[in-house]
This record gives sequence, C-alpha cells and structure tokens, in this order.
Amino acid sequence: MNHIFKKKENYLFSISFVFWKSAIEKIISITLRAKIDSLMPNYAANIMSIFSSGNLMKKIKLHWQILIAIVIGIFFGLQFTDYVPYVSWLGDLFLRALNMIIIPLVLSSLISGVANIGGERLGRVGMKTMLFVVITTMLAVLTGLFLVNIIQPGVGADLGLMEKVDHLASSPTSFGETLMRIVPTNVVDAISKGDLLAIIFFAVFFGALITKLDTKYQSFLSDLFNSIFEIMMKMTLIIIQFAPIGIFGIISKVVGKQAANPQILVAIGGRLGLLVITVLLGFVIHSLITLPLLLKFVARVSPLKHYQNMSTALLTAFTTASSGATLPIALEAVEHKNGVSNKIASFVLSLGTTVNMNGTALFECVGAIFIAQAYGIQLSFGQQVIAVIISLLSAVGAPGIPMAGLVVMTIVLKAMGLPIEGIGLILAVERILDMFRTAINVLGDTSTAVIVAKSEGEILKI
Ligand code: ASP
Repeated sequence: MNHIFKKKENYLFSISFVFWKSAIEKIISITLRAKIDSLMPNYAANIMSIFSSGNLMKKIKLHWQILIAIVIGIFFGLQFTDYVPYVSWLGDLFLRALNMIIIPLVLSSLISGVANIGGERLGRVGMKTMLFVVITTMLAVLTGLFLVNIIQPGVGADLGLMEKVDHLASSPTSFGETLMRIVPTNVVDAISKGDLLAIIFFAVFFGALITKLDTKYQSFLSDLFNSIFEIMMKMTLIIIQFAPIGIFGIISKVVGKQAANPQILVAIGGRLGLLVITVLLGFVIHSLITLPLLLKFVARVSPLKHYQNMSTALLTAFTTASSGATLPIALEAVEHKNGVSNKIASFVLSLGTTVNMNGTALFECVGAIFIAQAYGIQLSFGQQVIAVIISLLSAVGAPGIPMAGLVVMTIVLKAMGLPIEGIGLILAVERILDMFRTAINVLGDTSTAVIVAKSEGEILKI
C-alpha cells in the first residue's frame, strides 16, 4: 500500500493528473481573466499566474496552495462579489467529486481491510485489537461531544445559512429507526443513498465471509477488493490535488454571499477559531489524559517514555497528514524502541492505519455538530448518539491519507440529515486540523499496539 504515497511512478496517473489539472487551470484562466482584467488589470495577471502556472503549483506544497486559495477566495468574494457565480461552480464540482468517491472508497476500504485481517488472524489478538480500537475511539468521540456541547463553537453565528434548515425537517431522526436501518432492505438502494450504517454492516459481513471461502475464490475476491481500494486511494489523492481550486470556489461563494455584511464574516472567522480551539482541546485531553491513563493503568508502561519513543513518528504524521505514510516509521519505533514483537506491531499498526482513527473520529463528531449549530439545528439526545456512532464508523472507514476525514465528513453529514455544503464552513481550518488529528491517530495506533502487546504478556522496554 505504501508505494501509493511515494513518487508518482505510474505514468497513467501522472498523465491524467497533468491533463485534468491543466484543463481546469485553462478553464479558470479563460473564464476569469476577461472578467477581472477590465477591473484590475495588474492584479489580475498576478492572481491568475498562481492558478495557471503549472510549475509554480508543483513547487508549492498542497497545504500552502490551500492557504493561498483561501486568501484569494476571501479577496475575490469581497472585491468581485458580482463575479462569484462564475467561480462558485469550482467549489460545487469539488464537492461533487468528493461525493463521487466516498461510497466506493469506504466500501472497498472496509471489505479489503476485514478480508485481509480475517481467517486465523482474526483470533484473540484481532479481537483484543478491535476492542481497544473501539474503546479509544469512543473515548475520543465522547471527549469531542462533551467539548462541542460546552463550548458550542457554532451556536449563535448567523452565518446566513438558515434558509437551508427547511428541508432538514424531513431527515430521519429516531434512534430506534436508525438502528433498524443498519440492516438494509436493498443493498443497492443503501449504496445509492449513501446510507453509511447499512453500507458498513454489509461491507463487514461481506469482507468477513471472504475469509471463509475456498482458497481459489478467497484470493480472487481479496485481490479484487484490494485492487479497487488501491484505485480509490489514487482517485482520492488526485481529487485532493484539486482542493485549492475547489476551496477557492467555495470560500469565494461563502464570502461573496456575506460581502455586504462584513460583521457576519468576522463572526464566521471567530466561530472557526472556536472550532479549532474545541478540536485541539479535545486532542490535548485525549493525548495527555485518556491515552496516558490507559498506558499507565491498563498496559502498566511509562506513557512519557512511549511518547518520547514515538516523537519521530508523531512529527512525521503531523507533517505528512497521512497515517499511511507514517506506518513504516511508527512500526520501526514500536518494534525497536518499545520492544513490541513484529507479529503484534505489524498486525495492530497496519490494521490501525485504516480503522483506528481517534483524532479523525473526534474531528468528525465536533465538525458535524459544529455545522448543525451553525445551521441553527438543535440536536436531540438521540441524534447526538447517532452522531457519536456515525463519527466512530466513518473514522473506521476513512483511509490513512491526507484529508480523508474531510471526505468522510460528507457521509456523516448525510447520515445526520445535514447539508453537505456545510463542509464549506470548515474547509479553511481543515489542513491544520488534519495535521493534528493524524498525529493523534498515530498516537492511538501505537498506544493500542503497546496495550495489546502487554496484554499478551510481552516484556517491553518502556
Ligand atoms: N489524514 C488522516 C490520517 O491519515 C485521516 C484524516 O484525514 O482524518 O490519519
């Protein structure tokens, strides 16, 4: 799997990437340049050169591109409000592309993940790992739920989104009904509606049974779903390359809508700041209280030593925003520095990279409730329980690549009956939160490996 994160050695991938990127860049230049030139000839040339210079785009790292896109989006929305409709389709297209990949991505990630760990490996160690994955992820989500209800980062911000509330009334709400819907009456219908719980139920069932088939069918189906998963990861990475352009479209639309009321924009900025504080506070509690307590009292090891040993892995996770890319470094640290056996380290960490995402789960829960708050929607206790379950499951289904949390956020919002355009609200802070949540994901994976190893009677160096 790791080769995906290395250089783009696949020529087809590079060719289609360059083709689509330059095609979109051309469309933007043509559509915008004429409009802007008449207003601000010199600035227009400078702004457009950022989008149209392929070399420049390649030299600037994605997170800087996103930051630049946000700044340009704000500037464009404020200064060229009348022209926002000419660029807002870029954001819509980006959201459509995210939507397009979500179901096949989650479906193939789960089926191949469960099929790969199945069989004899899904024994005691597998069960223990899954138990700690659920416990640590649940604790993270509950921390987020508690903080987002106390701090209420989205409440009271009149973001000009209230007109959307009407069509939410029809969304399913009852907890019992949601539990029933875990078993779909029609799988194809569940897939076409993006019904996450039903899809996950079916995928896990399907994946687990692959391991029970004759070797011939088993290897065919595992290869098939592994290959589909690889394609979906590549597709996700390509779409994410277009994030700056999509974000530019979304931000200019949000800003353009409120250009006449700057105080609303200030409110959005303030609320986003509060969102970041809420999520980061959750991460602090999870990494400095929850996980150390589990390490100290369940695994009986020194949390401080564990953290020291994991420092390179955590920094790598933070900078790459990909737990998949961090896997080799985390493996090395857990095995050689902590003394966990290769059997447990490689099993727990490779499984954890896709299914154990403490940081992502916390972010999903806080982000979705933030969006509900911003839309002025009061969530009942039952709906909050659903938010917790869906955040947990969506984090399980998210692959360990940058911005996967944002991709699966669409499914959390759908499942909760919230409009997916709400994602536009959190895009501005997505990258920085992604870096932190990836570090928390890796911390959760490595802590689980230590706990499982200790419970299996291994003697560790920490
Ligand atoms: N970037 C995260 C990871 O690789 C996933 C996410 O976007 O939340 O662990």
